[in-house]
Amino acid sequence: MPHTERIALYVGSFDPVTVGHLDIIERGLALFDRIIVLVGYNPDKHGCFTPEERIEMLKACTAHLPRVTVDCWSGLTVEYAHKVGACALLRGLRGASDWEGEQLLAATNAHIAPDIDTVFLAARPEHMMISSSVVRQMASFGADLTGYVPEAVKPRVISKFQKTTNETKEITKGK
Ligand code: ADP
Repeated sequence: MPHTERIALYVGSFDPVTVGHLDIIERGLALFDRIIVLVGYNPDKHGCFTPEERIEMLKACTAHLPRVTVDCWSGLTVEYAHKVGACALLRGLRGASDWEGEQLLAATNAHIAPDIDTVFLAARPEHMMISSSVVRQMASFGADLTGYVPEAVKPRVISKFQKTTNETKEITKGK
C-alpha cells in the first residue's frame, strides 16, 4: 500500500541530544513530510538522563520544527513504524565505526520489515566527533558545551551534571 504522507522515524538513545542529532532531524525534513524522533529505551538499562528528561530536551530543541514530534518506545522499532505508518528509518553516519553497527541494524530491520527502508545521512564534517558520550564526559568536567548540544538543552545538561557532582562530593565528604 503506498504511503500518502512520508513519515520517517529517527530512533536513538539521545542521552542527551546533540547538535549532530538535531542536524540530522533538520536535514531529514527536506526528505520527509514528518519525522518522529523516538527515544528507544531499555527498562533494564539505565542511561544518564531518564527517558522523560531526554524527551523534554528533544521537545525543547525541536519546538521550532512543527513537522517533528517526539515519543518513546521500548519495543521493536519496526513495530512502532508499522503502527504510525512510517516508510523509513532515518539514521546518521559519522564514519566507518558507525557503519558496521548501522549496516547490521539496517539488515535486521529490512529482514523483519521489508516495506520499511533505512535512509542514512552523512554527518557534517564538523559533527563527526560529536556523540552523547563525549558530551556527558565534557559535562562531567564542567567543559563548555557550546557547539555540542543545542542551546535550548545546554542548561539542562549543565544542571544535571552539577547535581551529580554535588551528590558525589557529599558521598566522598562522608568517607
Ligand atoms: P544509538 O544509541 O542508537 O547509537 P544515538 O542517540 O547515539 O543512538 O544516535 C542515534 C542516531 O544518530 C544514530 O544513527 C547515530 O549514528 C546518529 N548520530 C549520532 N551522533 C551523530 C552526529 N554527531 N552526527 C550525525 N549523526 C549522529
